Amino acid sequence: MIDPFGREITYLRVSVTDRCDFRCVYCMSEHMTFLPKRDVLSLEELDRLCSAFVRKGVNKLRLTGGEPLVRKDIMTLFQSLGRHLATGALEDLTLTTNGSQLDRYADALYAAGVRRVNISLDSLDPDVFKRITRWGDFDQVMRGIAAAKRAGLAIKINTVALNKINDGEFDRLIAWCGDQGFDLTFIETMPMGDIDGDRSADYLPLSVARADLNKRWHLDDIDYQTGGPARYVRVKETDGRIGFITPLTHNFCESCNRVRLTCTGTLYMCLGQGDSADLRTALRAGDSDDALDAAIDEAITRKPKGHDFFIDRRHTAPAVERHMSVTGG
Ligand code: SAM
Ligand code: SF4
Repeated sequence: MIDPFGREITYLRVSVTDRCDFRCVYCMSEHMTFLPKRDVLSLEELDRLCSAFVRKGVNKLRLTGGEPLVRKDIMTLFQSLGRHLATGALEDLTLTTNGSQLDRYADALYAAGVRRVNISLDSLDPDVFKRITRWGDFDQVMRGIAAAKRAGLAIKINTVALNKINDGEFDRLIAWCGDQGFDLTFIETMPMGDIDGDRSADYLPLSVARADLNKRWHLDDIDYQTGGPARYVRVKETDGRIGFITPLTHNFCESCNRVRLTCTGTLYMCLGQGDSADLRTALRAGDSDDALDAAIDEAITRKPKGHDFFIDRRHTAPAVERHMSVTGG
């Protein structure tokens, strides 16, 4: 699949549920309204959709959400998608998770063919963790991370940088990840969906955070690429890697290789734009995949050049109405 700007689309992210057992302050309101269950695709339908993309050249698949591991029977989807790893069509089957269910599922994920996992952890301080996730259980997440490590999964920690909330903890996170052998990626808050507060107060440009880190750590730019938008540095003191995802301070769209599918079968060709394609109707049009293939091809012709995210005090309304949990982060 090649889009109108010559970019090859090889990466699909799928939000398998928009529901979550946490209520992170930057992600959703405490009283979030979720999609009606009747609109959500079955796991078999999600498998059929993902497989259509794999047939068309997607070689990297990430299941996300909401919290992917709270969806009932989700392990059957990982297991069935694992067949594409066996044939070599898929190179990478992975997930982004808040870690709350990893204690239960880490071994099963490894057995299904998953080899690496992104775990979101914004703080190593249980009180700050609670303040950010609202409903999260810090000890449970730490047990989950330990289980993932024991299972042999490579771990990347994702940390959303929040001004005056967790910015005092970056040193500790860097040291801990270095110790544990985890990669660490810092992410800027993106203006997606209404939350209870005002994101502009919590927004911390990573250019500022990095300049501060430079005072205490030797950070050397490296060429490391994961097929994602992060720019990586090597920390001399820990020999660990840190990535910076800066959608607001640095536009990474020119190398975008991905599209995103929601749990209701809507395909978003860009995280930061509203245009979408309804694949559920095509999927349910019949047993043959012809209509689905045609709908995917048509959608790729509409992939936009880039996003228009912008956060400052004059732009407090979200740039995109839907939440990250719907499109899948
Ligand atoms: N629940 C899982 C988790 O938290 O890892 C997967 C879904 S979550 C939407 C995926 C990632 O998006 C997480 O790392 C989370 O911190 C991040 N995220 C959520 N809302 C965001 C926002 N408005 N701006 C930037 N990152 C956000
Ligand atoms: Fe849930 Fe992930 Fe959003 Fe936090 S960031 S509320 S864990 S979907």
